[in-house]
Amino acid sequence: MKSDVSAKLWREANQVLVGGVNSPVRAFKAVGGNPFFAVSGKGAVVTDADGNEYIDYVLSWGPLVLGHAHPVVVEAVRKALEKGSSFGIPTEAEIRLAERIRQIMPSIEKVRLVNSGTEATMSAIRLARGFTGRDLIVKLEGCYHGHADGLLVKAGSGLATLGIPASPGIPAAYAQCTLTAPYNDLDAMRAVFDTHGANIACIILEPVVGNAGVILPEPGYLQGLRDLTKRHGALLIFDEVMSGFRAALGGAQARYGITPDLTTLGKVIGGGLPVGAYGGPAAIMDHLAPVGPVYQAGTLAGNPLATAAGLATLEVLAEPGAYESTENALTRLGKGLAEIAHETSVPIFQTQAGSMGCLFFHEGPIRNYADAAQSDTARYARFFRGMLERGVYLAPSQFEACFTSTAHTSDTLDRTLSAARDVFRTL
Ligand SMILES: *Cc1c(COP(=O)(O)O)cnc(C)c1O
Repeated sequence: MKSDVSAKLWREANQVLVGGVNSPVRAFKAVGGNPFFAVSGKGAVVTDADGNEYIDYVLSWGPLVLGHAHPVVVEAVRKALEKGSSFGIPTEAEIRLAERIRQIMPSIEKVRLVNSGTEATMSAIRLARGFTGRDLIVKLEGCYHGHADGLLVKAGSGLATLGIPASPGIPAAYAQCTLTAPYNDLDAMRAVFDTHGANIACIILEPVVGNAGVILPEPGYLQGLRDLTKRHGALLIFDEVMSGFRAALGGAQARYGITPDLTTLGKVIGGGLPVGAYGGPAAIMDHLAPVGPVYQAGTLAGNPLATAAGLATLEVLAEPGAYESTENALTRLGKGLAEIAHETSVPIFQTQAGSMGCLFFHEGPIRNYADAAQSDTARYARFFRGMLERGVYLAPSQFEACFTSTAHTSDTLDRTLSAARDVFRTL
């Protein structure tokens, strides 16, 4: 595999970009080595600056559920671009995208479009606070909701549930408005509500965790959170920025049959362009300006290129069999990897919800962040590098998800498994 051009670009990138990247995980710190530079993608394959091709299981961290440069998406964006790239004036595509989201996720009656997942979650939390008149929020350990101050918070030591900043630059006072609890632990959540219930605006969680590897909710857990929030007059926010259109077409809320108050979306709904959204019943959403007093705005919100890409993506994905093909591809990959791990006696624990999943180097079970953190990350790094050398690009961290798309055909999967068979023998 050649790497001269990527190596040169990497040196140049480090002169002008912090750490050579615009988002930290892209720097490959968790797996070693330098990142490659992408120049193009088509279907399941991404091509780098040296001409190497990789089967892509990262898919821009989830959005590309139809694979790279799907012709319907490309055409939709081209058509939109020719008519003008931004107006800051209402456009019809915003209505159609919102309608499509509502059709796929019936818990959503009204939608607000924003530009990223981070924006969606921070805005949904402001709305929850404005709606309930309460300040505290509850976040689950290991869930990621973007980089807003009140959400970059980790658990304090011992039994304390008041959060502490997970990054310098976040005032302790902000972090103290975020309570934390371990995932899949209803008793811990009940204890949080016993103490603070009257002041809690919302619980926000990834109903399927996708940012600590992939961790599934245990039976009854999501329903327990639903009951608890209802009893205490708090809102339940499902952050489905990743799990939307992946855990099932209708997201984790469809897969597990739980109706949240608010849902945040991103990734897939932008079809590879920057989009986020949040939505819920009109009775809550109408607290937003211009109808209600809770302020939130965006110069490029509802951007015509982004809405065109998102709408085209959701339309293709909602065609009969399309979503199922993404899920089936990951199921087949998972089965193949399980066989290989068994043959080579490498302990693994696999999780999957639809077209998102994870292979942990740990015998499991993995129920929460603390369990995931026990994984053999050095072994994951060897696995990652071995696969990359054989033309398969996996997430450059044990604690990220693996994604499939409609473009991951059986030939793609066979080639991936044959590479994995070689690599597992060296682990
Ligand atoms: C990616 C992600 C976000 C943040 O979205 P950005 O578009 O990166 O700001 C928020 N929540 C979840 C669950 C995510 O996976």
